Amino acid sequence: MCPNNQAKKRFGQNFLADKDIIDQIIGIIAPKYLDNLVEIGPGKGALTERLLQFCPRLWTIEIDRDLAHFLKQKFVHHKNFFVAESDALKINFSRNFAPLPIRIVGNLPYNIATPLIFHLIRHRDVIKDMLFMLQLEVAQRIHAKPCSKAYGRLTVMVQYFCEVFPMLSVPPSAFHPTPKVTSCFVRLIPRKRINPNAEDELMLAHLVTTCFQQRRKTLRNSLRRFCSEPDEFFPAIDLNLRPDQISVKDYVYLSNQLTNLNVHTN
Ligand code: SAM
Repeated sequence: MCPNNQAKKRFGQNFLADKDIIDQIIGIIAPKYLDNLVEIGPGKGALTERLLQFCPRLWTIEIDRDLAHFLKQKFVHHKNFFVAESDALKINFSRNFAPLPIRIVGNLPYNIATPLIFHLIRHRDVIKDMLFMLQLEVAQRIHAKPCSKAYGRLTVMVQYFCEVFPMLSVPPSAFHPTPKVTSCFVRLIPRKRINPNAEDELMLAHLVTTCFQQRRKTLRNSLRRFCSEPDEFFPAIDLNLRPDQISVKDYVYLSNQLTNLNVHTN
């Protein structure tokens, strides 16, 4: 039986309730028999039920104990179904889901989507792709181009590590309870080769954070935090520009110049 209790806000529970949208999402995921799929936040199993038809095994991670218990009963006859009653943010994705690589899917709780993407990026070597329902605003930020309002720290860091493909816009009416915002189903593919590569990824992260903390200031101004005469060291970039006017590759260039100058991140 489905748990009668109300959706728990603290776990971001907005369950998919539109069959057409679920069909479209399954079509986008296009699961293949040999895929090793991990679903984050299976909820009441709207996607799970469909995915189980394709996979020799389906791992799921559900933080809500009541839902995990419900799912164990619902899929008791599916020998290919496994649920970890756990917080996805604490899972070591590189270790727990052999055989590798894995494909990760989920209608993500909006409150953990961004930290979860950063957590998963740390495990990118074992991830083939990630297919997530995100708040449209977050999807726009990770897919943004320079010189747009949505372009920022999240854009640069996610696009540095992953290719980003928005796949489907999903209205609030597709969920129960109905969220206040539109959603977007997005595919992220970790880059096999990052080119150009940041010699020190911590430096890149620190630089990008620093620059976007002062979004209205020029790059010259932000870079003074790292060196006294920025114009001498970054000849390839117009330092009169603002942080949202340069590309991911430009950030890698700035970061590598700082690394070569032996600037430290703390
Ligand atoms: N997949 C279901 C669907 O589409 O109907 C439910 C999606 S609902 C937006 C998010 C789900 O993630 C809920 O089941 C919630 O309990 C679960 N969840 C929330 N935080 C979580 C976390 N940190 N780790 C794992 N699951 C989480």
